[in-house]
Amino acid sequence: MQKLLLFDIDGTLIRSNGAGRLTLAYALERLFGTSGPLDSYNMSGKTDPRIITDLLTAVGIPAKEIQRQLPAIYELMAEHGQKVFWEKGMTACPGVPDLLAKLAMQDDVLVGLLTGNSQITAPLKLSAAGIDPLQFKVGAYGSDALDRNDLPAIGMARAHQLTGDAFNGNNTVIIGDTPADVLCARAGKATAVAVASGWHAATTLAEYHPDHLFENLSHTEQILEVLLA
Ligand SMILES: [Mg+2]
Repeated sequence: MQKLLLFDIDGTLIRSNGAGRLTLAYALERLFGTSGPLDSYNMSGKTDPRIITDLLTAVGIPAKEIQRQLPAIYELMAEHGQKVFWEKGMTACPGVPDLLAKLAMQDDVLVGLLTGNSQITAPLKLSAAGIDPLQFKVGAYGSDALDRNDLPAIGMARAHQLTGDAFNGNNTVIIGDTPADVLCARAGKATAVAVASGWHAATTLAEYHPDHLFENLSHTEQILEVLLA
């Protein structure tokens, strides 16, 4: 039986320096003439469709219309991302390139993504931070579900389709930087690894009782031990 590791992107693998917010503003303003209360909105740990729905319903756009336009919004976000992700200078979080290199050498470990980003934006962000998106063999994305808590089951099902192995909470680890990532791991009955490399302090993350908590992913050996246990 393989082990499935599902990594969040923003704040966990990379720092995006506000570029995600810019792509959202661009897409919503192009299609709707407004990005709603984006400046004061807390995006932490939320999926793109959750964020988009909240911002647009706040200015009276019907949920049905938002739903219908989601693919077009994702397209525009990715289109703008091709430009701003490079301009803004995405960076890999501490320890990430080394950890991924070590994981690539492990048999019986399937490395994947679990992110609120859409499936078309995720690889662009990673590439801009110098991380090869092709090393992630499976993914569960914001474009798959509005609620992040639905994503673990989707990631596990895709991992099963790919390998034929069975995946459940017992052999799945979810690594993320927000309270929402810990809750999402709980929803999938998976092991929750929290990292304070994003916007949340370790003390805040500790309140959600992740199985493991690290300041960042730079202590490679120690982290490998936890991920492969
Ligand atoms: Mg994150």
